Amino acid sequence: MDEFELLLDLHKGAGRQGPGGDSETEKAIELAGIDRNSPLKIADIGCGTGASTLTLARLLDAKITAVDFVQDFLDVLATRAESNGVDDKVTQLCASMEQLPFENEEFDVIWSEGAIYNIGFEKGVVDWRRYLKPDGLLVVSEITWLTKTRPPELNAYWDVAYPEIDTASAKIKVLEDRGYTPVGYFVLPEYCWLDNYYMPMLRRLDEFLARNGNSEEARAIVQAEHDEIELYEKYKAYFGYGVYVARKSDV
Ligand code: SAH
Repeated sequence: MDEFELLLDLHKGAGRQGPGGDSETEKAIELAGIDRNSPLKIADIGCGTGASTLTLARLLDAKITAVDFVQDFLDVLATRAESNGVDDKVTQLCASMEQLPFENEEFDVIWSEGAIYNIGFEKGVVDWRRYLKPDGLLVVSEITWLTKTRPPELNAYWDVAYPEIDTASAKIKVLEDRGYTPVGYFVLPEYCWLDNYYMPMLRRLDEFLARNGNSEEARAIVQAEHDEIELYEKYKAYFGYGVYVARKSDV
């Protein structure tokens, strides 16, 4: 298995592939003022195995197109949707978030948790805007600086990992500049990283190594996960996930 396949093998057994939480997804629904009883069309972009998709399906009267470019994740999502009794609300779509086969103004809501960074926040909010109906809602989580200044070594790390990381005010300005009216913002609490994402992953690592013959490549992935967790623990005062809610404006 190459590195990508190993990463899939590690992550497809998880309920989520990034920091988040069911109650935080619900909080974003509230903040967006989404009517739970009106029929909606939603795209969940970079859905992984469907953490947010399943919560949206449970809480809303919605037809959800769950998009990811990893078919294995979508297969897990399909099974979970069925066992949660929401498969009639969810359609899986294997596609790149850069080349979505959608019509203009097709969706009431575009949702994306922990995924927009793959094409970059600004490119994502610009590209996806056309798929929103007038007044449609965008809900995205994005890695965000929580402080104005940071330790130089942390800046250096993110300069390489994701140079688009910025403060909430800068992200909100991007939304304003790119045809959205900001509606709300909150920061994912620490447990969304530790209890909901990192701890379940740590519990899967031994099995992952055994499954992959304790190979050098598998061990490198385990080490990288440990390093990432250590970085988070050390610097969590300075960065986190912001959840941004914005409405498409007609200007
Ligand atoms: N929203 C999920 C998954 C977040 S991880 C959750 O919160 O748990 C990011 C997801 O984006 C992964 O499932 C990955 O396969 C997907 N992804 C990354 N690049 C992509 C691309 N270019 N097109 C579509 N999906 C992509």
